[in-house]
Amino acid sequence: MLKLIDVRKIYTTKVGDVAAMDGITVEFPDNGMIFINGKSGSGKTTLLNVVGGLDGFDSGEIIIDGKNFSTFTDSDYDSYRNTFVGFVFQEYNLLPDYTVGKNIQIANELQGKETSKERLKEMMAEFDIAGLENRKISELSGGQKQRVAIVRSLVKDPKIIMADEPTGALDSVTSVQIMELIREIAGERLVIMVTHNPELAEQYSTRIVKLQDGLVVSDSNPYDSSMEKEEVKIKTETEFLSEARQENTPQNKIKRKTKKEKKIKTSMSFKTALGLSGRNLQAKKGRTFVTSFAGSIGIISVCLVLALSNG
Ligand code: ADP
Ligand code: MG
Repeated sequence: MLKLIDVRKIYTTKVGDVAAMDGITVEFPDNGMIFINGKSGSGKTTLLNVVGGLDGFDSGEIIIDGKNFSTFTDSDYDSYRNTFVGFVFQEYNLLPDYTVGKNIQIANELQGKETSKERLKEMMAEFDIAGLENRKISELSGGQKQRVAIVRSLVKDPKIIMADEPTGALDSVTSVQIMELIREIAGERLVIMVTHNPELAEQYSTRIVKLQDGLVVSDSNPYDSSMEKEEVKIKTETEFLSEARQENTPQNKIKRKTKKEKKIKTSMSFKTALGLSGRNLQAKKGRTFVTSFAGSIGIISVCLVLALSNG
């Protein structure tokens, strides 16, 4: 679903250029939980920001659902950010003086949509923050804040969730709880998560992509959509062969023969029927002739009798 080809992003600073992305080629499937790790400064946040459309890039290609970023207009970018991707940040990015409810609804409100009260209640219960709608963000614990941030990212039902160290500010017990919740949501969407914690990555991810100096230096389970197509092709060929083999089993040969015989029999009976109807027609012709001959004689004799009697 998401493909990066040789993507580069250079930050120009007073002390020189920094290649935050130095030619990254990587592909992600439709769902699953994929971890991005690497040392501080290796380009993890930049990767998320660029892929999420929050930041631009200098060269290379990014293809999302078959559409190339290079063809995106400003409004395409807006709708991509607002509907396609959801962000969960380390610092939560919540508005501290607003209520939990307001913070969650804001994602949809920005698009002029309204979150139904039932949906909001349902999601909050699912993420174990039921009843906190009217509480201010500043009155919550770290774990609660992160749950609010996750619900906020999910409320617009995005296809991709990008999470930048979502457990970075949490204790280990809360981190595990948050990871469990995120793993659940990764069943039906793609979650790209940056983490510093290698243990959590090992335990929860289906794949770990490691970055170093703006480059992918290892990938535990690379994904290649073109391989998937190849597999389908091979599968079809195999299916085709096995079907062909099935067709040539002795049983099927007998079946085919019976079919053929039946066909011939049917056509013969048709011919017979045709012949019979032909004979019928001929017999009818004969009968018609006799009938009309007899009729004519009758008329002629009546005429003769009339002529003779008048004469
Ligand atoms: P990570 O998230 O892995 O710690 P970042 O993506 O934040 O790494 O940063 C990658 C590199 O780009 C680092 O060398 C960082 O200093 C640099 N960088 C990030 N943001 C900026 C910026 N706004 N201006 C200049 N350099 C930046
Ligand atoms: Mg970072």
